[in-house]
Amino acid sequence: MSAAETLTKIIATVGPASRSPDTLDALVRAGVSTFRLNLSHGSLAEHADTVREIRASEARTGKVVAILADLPGPKIRVAGAPPEGIPLEAGHLVRLCHGDRCQTRGDAARGEWTLACTYAGIVDDAEPGHRILIDDGAIRLLVVERHAGELIATTLVGGLVKPSKGVNLPDSVVRADPITARDRDGARFAVEHDADFVAMSFVQDADDVRRLQEMLDRLHAEVGPPTRSVRPRVIAKIERPQAVERIASIVDVADGVMVARGDLGVEMDLAKVPVVQKRILAIARAEGKPAIVATQMLQSMVDAPVPTRAEASDVANAILDGCDAVMLSGETAVGKWPVIVVETMARIAREAEALAAPMVGMGAPPNRLVRERNRVAALAHGAMRAARDLNVAAIVAWTSSGTTALLLSRYGFTVPIRAASTSLPALRSTRLLRGVEPLYLPTVPASFGEFLDTVESMLVADGRVRMGDLCIVVTGESFDASAVQASITIREIGTGPVFASPPSRGGGR
Ligand code: PGA
Ligand code: MN
Repeated sequence: MSAAETLTKIIATVGPASRSPDTLDALVRAGVSTFRLNLSHGSLAEHADTVREIRASEARTGKVVAILADLPGPKIRVAGAPPEGIPLEAGHLVRLCHGDRCQTRGDAARGEWTLACTYAGIVDDAEPGHRILIDDGAIRLLVVERHAGELIATTLVGGLVKPSKGVNLPDSVVRADPITARDRDGARFAVEHDADFVAMSFVQDADDVRRLQEMLDRLHAEVGPPTRSVRPRVIAKIERPQAVERIASIVDVADGVMVARGDLGVEMDLAKVPVVQKRILAIARAEGKPAIVATQMLQSMVDAPVPTRAEASDVANAILDGCDAVMLSGETAVGKWPVIVVETMARIAREAEALAAPMVGMGAPPNRLVRERNRVAALAHGAMRAARDLNVAAIVAWTSSGTTALLLSRYGFTVPIRAASTSLPALRSTRLLRGVEPLYLPTVPASFGEFLDTVESMLVADGRVRMGDLCIVVTGESFDASAVQASITIREIGTGPVFASPPSRGGGR
């Protein structure tokens, strides 16, 4: 018997606290569906080792696990600050510049500093009146003058500028290419190492997303593994106000979105973030795209074995808002309790899901699919109605690319949608979808009847269904030449050959 996963998928960032084989196995067993590699930290050689460890853990645990490679993007940083930091105080004058003749230095007595920034366009993009925020907004400057080669700013809120602290320009249109040289290396790494998802940081518009998708298409044709038929899917990280303004067009092209609250909470007024989160999730749901809520979800558990009340509420509310997946960053990468964090998240998720399930996905198929008269989307809609009317024990979907599972997952089913496929990459691609759980088939069934019998025996072996239970089986596409193209079948457990001769194979295949 294998316990059902949470309907909400859990993403855990891998880091020094979690990359040992034992911890990875424990995280998978606790409910992680997807591991995130944060390419802002560590070397690509280290990440390659982590990929190998994750795939080994997948084989050991018998669970399907996806990998999300998160590209750093054009994060601006202060270069050359001394280890002890630069003590900025309110009223201090700061010159900001970039290039060979620009060096971080200063004079504490006179209260004048020069900060070298890693972004060449800082002087062009920021103007007098724009704010410059350092260290996640803890330190605040205001640009007062712009000259050739430097900005002059005054310090509004001081603090210690430690080496490589991040710089945000919330009022400026940053013209930095969202795909940096480092991102290109990261994208190639992701394709070569068979990552399932690539997250793009600091997206400003739909064109940014399209460019990365095209780059991944080219890389996939060049160096992609032969076992995978499509490039990694692109998750657009919404972490700039410009992206929030253009959210509809970004959702339209991206394969999924992430509410990246870390940078978003610095780039725009923090007070707006909770409402923006709800808006992004609603739009993603209406358009049929998966959505992740990220950053500081259980932040205090980096140190403590229990979360705060506010954090428990935050996880539950993200689920009630209708997200597909919730993400852990430092909590699992560098925290003291990586496995307990995931167990805690899963416990909170189960409670929220009991309330959330009847609330989400009661509508029609995603807008664009209605416009396109997508048959599988309509089928999924019908399956949702039938599942409710019949109070079914499970939904099973044959899926060769993951699309049928995606369409079903838009409806807020209260029972798991078992995505049945012979393709591991297709099953991994479903690991960010609310309510979907993989059912790996070693061979393509010879007929529709054999498919029904196989999945029935697997569900029975899992202990998830009993004699007399009803299941809904959806096929969006045929798996043999003779089968119907798109169908919904209502199957009563026990009417097939399974109960005549007990299943000989376990559910772990
Ligand atoms: P990061 O992205 O952790 O890569 O910065 C997530 C966020 O900004 O919330
Ligand atoms: Mn970010």
